Amino acid sequence: SLTGQDLHLSFGDNHVLRGVDIHVEAGTTTTVIGPSGSGKSTLLRVLNRLHEPQQGDILIDGRSVLKDDPDQLRRRIGMVFQQFNLFPHRTVAQNVELGPRKLLGLDKDEARALAIAQLESVGLAHKADARPSTLSGGQQQRVAIARALAMHPQIMFFDEATSALDPELVKGVLALMTDLSEQGMTMIVVTHEMGYARDVSDHVVFMDEGMVVETGAPEQIFTDARSDRLKTFLSQIL
Ligand code: ATP
Ligand code: MG
Repeated sequence: SLTGQDLHLSFGDNHVLRGVDIHVEAGTTTTVIGPSGSGKSTLLRVLNRLHEPQQGDILIDGRSVLKDDPDQLRRRIGMVFQQFNLFPHRTVAQNVELGPRKLLGLDKDEARALAIAQLESVGLAHKADARPSTLSGGQQQRVAIARALAMHPQIMFFDEATSALDPELVKGVLALMTDLSEQGMTMIVVTHEMGYARDVSDHVVFMDEGMVVETGAPEQIFTDARSDRLKTFLSQIL
């Protein structure tokens, strides 16, 4: 499990996270929804210690990790962003191989075999030797997911992974994320895709102004919202 307790973060006098609690059980998917600027991306960056929280704690399986080397935590978390950030001058397979070679110590052949297997799992083994720029946005995002999975993460973070995609390409990436959820990957998914939040995730966290305003099962959040802020948010987007 991954737990954030009373997390605070300010940028100057902008108090962006104001005591956020989040708990994700192993094998479950939590979606994080909320208005622009509410702190969703910042929460993910604090949870993998790209920003150190100024107050609060982060626990894995109940044990605080804040005293450990931050790289230890980051290696256990796979991240997928809106921008795919693939290396343009390397092939698709090389993009996937890089992490396992550098950080897991695999040799060239082992890393290649792992990359091909991972690309197969996202339906793109036939693109192994292509440059990323020759792929569609949806295919590039699936490569980015394969690259994250090749590191055998304990947990996957997705931050608006489908927001930059043309509408017809969103489906394929959401289908892959749904497969991962159903296979029991532990995931935190920041998304505007309410269909995914409602139908796939186990828990929904609604953030506003740096706080978790409401959290619950999808049925609860989408059919029985308690707070006015969540009701207003849902009425604007659904
Ligand atoms: P969106 O839905 O638009 O992606 P969000 O919920 O992900 O929004 P964040 O990106 O977490 O929101 O931003 C929350 C607040 O933190 C904003 O006011 C933003 O300006 C501020 N912020 C985020 N990152 C930084 C940074 N590196 N330096 C300064 N301020 C930042
Ligand atoms: Mg964001």
